[in-house]
Amino acid sequence: MTHVVAISPHLDDAAFSVGGVLAAHARAGDRVTIVTCFTGNVAAPTGFALACQLDKGVDAEVDYMALRRAEDRAACSVIGAQAVHLPLLEAPHRGYGSAHALFGPRRNDDTMPATLTGALAAQVDTLAPDVLLGPLAIGDHVDHWLVRDALAAIGRPLLLWEDWPYLTRASDLPSAPATRTHRLDDEDRAARLAMCAAYTSQIGFQFGSLHALADAVAAVTAERLHAA
Ligand SMILES: [Zn+2]
Repeated sequence: MTHVVAISPHLDDAAFSVGGVLAAHARAGDRVTIVTCFTGNVAAPTGFALACQLDKGVDAEVDYMALRRAEDRAACSVIGAQAVHLPLLEAPHRGYGSAHALFGPRRNDDTMPATLTGALAAQVDTLAPDVLLGPLAIGDHVDHWLVRDALAAIGRPLLLWEDWPYLTRASDLPSAPATRTHRLDDEDRAARLAMCAAYTSQIGFQFGSLHALADAVAAVTAERLHAA
């Protein structure tokens, strides 16, 4: 059985970007695993990290990552994918103190590159994917670049997805033609929408409403993958 493994920076990126590809593989009988890197908790977030929770409408006393891990399990269940959650801390917990900093250069004191490369190498060894997917890091989120660089360091054959919804507002789109273009059929699109809609806490912030998310997914005709 073909095993497809998607390495997602955050709890939503793989479904948002390649939900249709993953759904099509699952329907074809392939095994699908989504490994999400940055799902770790801190007990009592403060400052920008807390603001990132509050601006999603999630109260301070709620365990935000536990909520998001549950959303991810629901998204994976749409297509019968396995969810793996690595307990690594996302950028707001590593000294990136503003929205601007999330899309800026990597901090000199950020020790996550070596940690992440080791963690992903272990996952890839264990999961033994036939198809390995990760982010192109369109939009330049520092965590997306960390995953792209870690996967490059591991050196396995790899296909990189165009990060969505960043893709729709980015100016640095890939100039090279895609290695694989997956045209979405109605089943793919329905599965992608159902997966995306499971990330309830992110929809208002990213899209405005469930209706707007549905419109955005309806406008996607294909998912493109690029050789690393
Ligand atoms: Zn992300």
